[in-house]
Amino acid sequence: MEKIYIDHNATTPLDHEVLDEMLPFLRDDWGNPSSVHWAARGPKAAMDTARERVAALLNCAPLEVVFTATGTEGDNHAIKGVALAKKNKGNHIITTVVEHPAVLNTCKYLEKEGFAVTYLKVDAMGRLDLDELRAAIRPETILISIMYANNETGVIFPIDEIGEIAREKGIVFHTDAVQAVGKIPIDVKTLKVDLLTLSGHKLYGPKGTGALFVRRGVRLVPLMHGGHQERNRRGGTENVAGLVGLGKACEMANESMEENVKHMSGLRDRLEKGIAAKIPDIKINGDVEHRLPNTANISFEYVEGESLLLGLDMMGVAASSGSACTSGSLEPSHVLLAMSLSHEMSHGSVRFSFGKDNTEAEIDYIIEVMPPIVERMRSMSPLYAGAK
Ligand SMILES: *Cc1c(COP(=O)(O)O)cnc(C)c1O
Repeated sequence: MEKIYIDHNATTPLDHEVLDEMLPFLRDDWGNPSSVHWAARGPKAAMDTARERVAALLNCAPLEVVFTATGTEGDNHAIKGVALAKKNKGNHIITTVVEHPAVLNTCKYLEKEGFAVTYLKVDAMGRLDLDELRAAIRPETILISIMYANNETGVIFPIDEIGEIAREKGIVFHTDAVQAVGKIPIDVKTLKVDLLTLSGHKLYGPKGTGALFVRRGVRLVPLMHGGHQERNRRGGTENVAGLVGLGKACEMANESMEENVKHMSGLRDRLEKGIAAKIPDIKINGDVEHRLPNTANISFEYVEGESLLLGLDMMGVAASSGSACTSGSLEPSHVLLAMSLSHEMSHGSVRFSFGKDNTEAEIDYIIEVMPPIVERMRSMSPLYAGAK
């Protein structure tokens, strides 16, 4: 059976070139980069290179890169770090209802600790209303945290305009860019973001690695107190091999971005066209004009998304419903519900997220195997029989 992986927003395979770059630091060059002797030199130099490569992808200074263990940690560090640093100035945070759980649950935690949080809504296409953002700002607003691109729909938010608004009001602006970094060009020199989260395993790097861009001058309380690593911003001996991998992954993403965008958006369009031509009663979710090149979120009316995924899995196709973090919970996607999709349509959605190594032949295989699966499910649905 063919094995086809179309779930790259959940995680990506580790690029073999990345692995090759990591191996020496697991096997031979195992020193602690903070030591002052010979064993530190290799790891320390490699960490410097990794930091430069991450900085090059974002167009920031290497000193503005703080390594983390995960995207989740970066989000926690940014949000809690600003909340604690600015708690004497104000207690209000603005975010959106469609954030990743790493942001949503951090904000919910802070609400219990006495902070007030405004969750901005989205429209049926998953877009924000910037007037609603402007109206939400209060004198005590200390942080705006809004994701760059949504992990479920791929919808890209107008980060430049949001940054303008935040900068004008002197409010710190954090963006969870885990799904955007490596997929689309990001330049923090021109973008008015103060904090930006990325994660290694979403861009063909190793799991357990990430980084937080912290613009020079932005004050954060550390999440991890300990040694002097990361210039006192994150204690703990570094995951040297992992971070070397993160750096290599960033370099590779930088070099092949244009080519990957073209390739992945071509596959996405091919799949959407193919499915639309062969399967009636479907809906493509999200603002198709402003979304990641690699993400397609499709609702199939009168079909249960989880069953559809099982059907696809039996044919060797790995896709997902909603996000990896919420599937299995049987709750419909909070992102799709926020876009006013009915419970049925939210439940009937599948996310296909493409990677640089997917092929047209794989897409054609999916277009071929899906219609009979959907038809079979619909034929068992009393609702569908009633509607037709
Ligand atoms: C995956 C993801 C995260 C979490 O990153 P981890 O490295 O898995 O902790 C955060 N935000 C978004 C948008 C994501 O897609």
